[in-house]
Amino acid sequence: MTADGRTEKVVIIGSGPAGWTAAIYAARADLDPVCLIGVPRTNPAPVLPGGQLMLTTEVENYPGFPEGISGPDMMQAFQKQAERFDARVRGVDVVSCDFSSRPFNLTTSEGDVVQAESVIIATGATANWIGLENELRLATSGGGVSACAVCDGALPMFRDKPLGVVGGGDSAMEEASYLAKFASKVYVIHRRDALRASQAMQDRVLSNDKIEMVWNSTVVDVLGDKAIEAVELENTQTGKQSRLDLTGLFVAIGHTPATQFLDGSGITLDDAGYVVVDGASCRTNIGGVFAAGDVADATYRQAVTAAGMGCRAALDAERWLSEQE
Ligand code: NAP
Repeated sequence: MTADGRTEKVVIIGSGPAGWTAAIYAARADLDPVCLIGVPRTNPAPVLPGGQLMLTTEVENYPGFPEGISGPDMMQAFQKQAERFDARVRGVDVVSCDFSSRPFNLTTSEGDVVQAESVIIATGATANWIGLENELRLATSGGGVSACAVCDGALPMFRDKPLGVVGGGDSAMEEASYLAKFASKVYVIHRRDALRASQAMQDRVLSNDKIEMVWNSTVVDVLGDKAIEAVELENTQTGKQSRLDLTGLFVAIGHTPATQFLDGSGITLDDAGYVVVDGASCRTNIGGVFAAGDVADATYRQAVTAAGMGCRAALDAERWLSEQE
């Protein structure tokens, strides 16, 4: 319930491309949405309102920006556009949800309860990092460390340069194959001697002349001041350390969807913790609760796909609300 005792028609949780796009559509449909955009935190890795794009220096693949745009500038523009249509914004986290009856109850980090007829969950997923100090510093300063090759790999700084990919899953294989188109050489650094990735993805990587596997190795340090120059590797079998010179490092060791606050809410999650939606819709298993963006999409994870899903979630919510009347 709001301070004046009102139940909100639509509450949007999250403030990345999915959340802001849902807010723009819901606001223009006169649903008077409230956006609960989260609280900044730095540990163990930075998480900011605005989501993953807040940690992205240059976005070159979002249509409509022929010269590119910085991630934070883009998120500021999304927010401004939502506020232009009077979307209301609160800088709080949602810590728990009660979807057992309507209106739904969302408890915030400030201790109050927001009541809502419908909810759009757009809290995203954060890339997992190794957790090294210089890795995180260079990732946030545009220093050649990234968790998304599709987002950053085509930047001029990586062209014809030696690049590293950390991980042994499908993402790491996909990133290595993608980067091999631009790089002079791609090293895939994996902590074991066997890959987790599907056979087809493995075959593509192992047969690519530009890609070299660095087995049984972990990255124990990232070297470089303004930009990455090398990584320090440790062999997991022998403990021996070695240096590998690199101009870019792509960490592909999985993502963690931001769904912990849904514990006990009855929302169906998949084995990896992503919200399950019904087919091409954004409907969850609970009527009136919708999900959009990376929190419900482990496959595409792009700003433009998240924004598209945010639009669909708002349209789904609008239809659902009108069906209830
Ligand atoms: P993933 O399958 O969980 O693989 C993560 C990889 O990172 C594993 O090889 C793991 O090593 C390694 N790793 C984890 N923590 C590490 C650490 N601290 N230091 C070093 N290495 C670490 O994650 P994913 O590759 O992102 O894939 C997630 C899901 O999306 C999977 O279901 C995948 O099939 C799917 N996906 C599909 C496609 C596609 O089909 N086109 C593309 C991308 C992703 P270990 O193997 O030793 O555990």
